[in-house]
Amino acid sequence: MRSNDYDVLIAGGGPVGLMLACELRMYGVSTLVVERLAPGANEPRTLTMHARTLEIMDRRDLLADFVAAEERTAGLDEYRRRLENTSARGHFAGMFVLGRGSVVTEQPRELLLPRETMETILTRRATRTGAVVRHGAEVVGLAQNADGVAVTVKDARGSTVIRAGYVVGCDGGRSAVRRHAGIDFPGTEPQLVSRMGLGSLTGPDRLPMGWQRNEHGWFMRMPDGRISTAEWDCGVPQTPVSVGELVDSVQRVTGERIQFTDVRFVSRFTDSTRLAAQYRAGRVLIAGDAAHVHFPAGGQGAHLGFQDAVNLGWKLAAACQGRPGLLDTYEAERRPVAERVLLNTHAQAALMRPGPQVDALRALFAELMDFDAVNDLLTNAIYGTDVRYGDSADPRVGRFVADRPLKTDSGPTRLAELLRDGRPLLLDLTGTSTAVRTADPWADRVRTVAALDADAEAAVLLIRPDGYLAWAGDAPVYDEDLRTALTDWFGPARA
Ligand SMILES: Cc1cc2nc3c(=O)[nH]c(=O)nc-3n(C[C@H](O)[C@H](O)[C@H](O)COP(=O)(O)OP(=O)(O)OC[C@H]3O[C@@H](n4cnc5c(N)ncnc54)[C@H](O)[C@@H]3O)c2cc1C
Repeated sequence: MRSNDYDVLIAGGGPVGLMLACELRMYGVSTLVVERLAPGANEPRTLTMHARTLEIMDRRDLLADFVAAEERTAGLDEYRRRLENTSARGHFAGMFVLGRGSVVTEQPRELLLPRETMETILTRRATRTGAVVRHGAEVVGLAQNADGVAVTVKDARGSTVIRAGYVVGCDGGRSAVRRHAGIDFPGTEPQLVSRMGLGSLTGPDRLPMGWQRNEHGWFMRMPDGRISTAEWDCGVPQTPVSVGELVDSVQRVTGERIQFTDVRFVSRFTDSTRLAAQYRAGRVLIAGDAAHVHFPAGGQGAHLGFQDAVNLGWKLAAACQGRPGLLDTYEAERRPVAERVLLNTHAQAALMRPGPQVDALRALFAELMDFDAVNDLLTNAIYGTDVRYGDSADPRVGRFVADRPLKTDSGPTRLAELLRDGRPLLLDLTGTSTAVRTADPWADRVRTVAALDADAEAAVLLIRPDGYLAWAGDAPVYDEDLRTALTDWFGPARA
């Protein structure tokens, strides 16, 4: 039988597929990304990156690149000025009030990056670390057996079959991988239609920057030049979207007939909300929009998908190295997170609907958002900072471990920096290095560091590669418990 060409084939070189490729390459997993389009050919939408994504990017040494790229991005001056004049950090259903409670995040604010820029940075990391990224090639079929998956890939020269140990569908909401794997995608039909375009707008005085809601729907004018509308209960056209359709929609919502020229793109999307029935079928997995789609209120789709990729990467790498045991925790941990995001985007779409009843609901909601507990709940939901994995009786376990300065034998560092090569981290804060000695038989897979941190949540922290706490030990540390945790998460001790 023919051996596999790659350990993992990723269908789709969007933000999630590329992030997953970067993750897998940290563990030496041979990875092919197959992307249907040419580089930069995707819709140039701008993507907001919220707190948890930025925290993750810091733990992968990508944050500085993203921040520098945002600084170079033209057209965001208006957005930056607005930030200086408000204490809010983000919106819920167009109410710019998030972050006004007691939530404190590692990163001071969200980032805005054009999709193309994000993909350029991730492609550079993925290819520099050894992933193969093939553009202009489409996954059109797959068949799996006990040893791997045969994937049919079509490009300008015809079709070929590529064999991989595992396939991950990161190929968006209409995922071919999901369909070929027989995974259901149940959900709700659209109730609203949005049109969006990037171009030059004439009539700016009457259509100022920002979000406007009225009895006909929403009109939004973004700092990067995009305009968008949202209209309810009007049916979804089945014809390809056109500039005329966007212009007509703007007129229906605002009463203004605009001139929209030099158009770079125009698109249509809805609030159709769907969640995959399962995230894995044998050797085929799905991540990002292939697993969940929702109305892009609050900019959470890529953010959710990045966390999928970072949750999956190290587990899939372990499976490729002969330890498939953790793979099912991917769905168990990530599907409930997507369910929560679908809940909040559905609620936002309801709160955005025109009409006097919703006017009253919004007014009441705005009052509720003045309460810290309510503001914190929704802020954490949008920022992704409310995630806790598993149901350990220990309330610390399953939570993201905050960054902090650390004094180690090798000098000062930060917790985030110690996670940058994707290895799990055993942080021994006992002052005696006993946990480091206990973990020595796992030192080929687990970074062990003795450090000082008087404010730490426990004397010993076992941190997963994605930054979440696998196990916490209080002094006196029970070696047996630590050995069990190391074995459960990272395999048996070295002989
Ligand atoms: C208007 C709008 C604004 C948004 N704003 C935000 C935001 O601010 N923040 C945020 O986090 N999210 C936002 N989102 C959501 C975000 O764009 C998506 O969640 C994100 O792009 C999902 O990434 P992905 O890689 O999973 O899928 P996609 O971005 O859809 O990428 C899938 C890739 O797979 C390729 N592909 C498809 N089929 C195949 C195939 N058979 N073979 C090979 N390749 C294939 C596609 O060409 C594409 O490049 C927004 C969405 C919309 C519509």
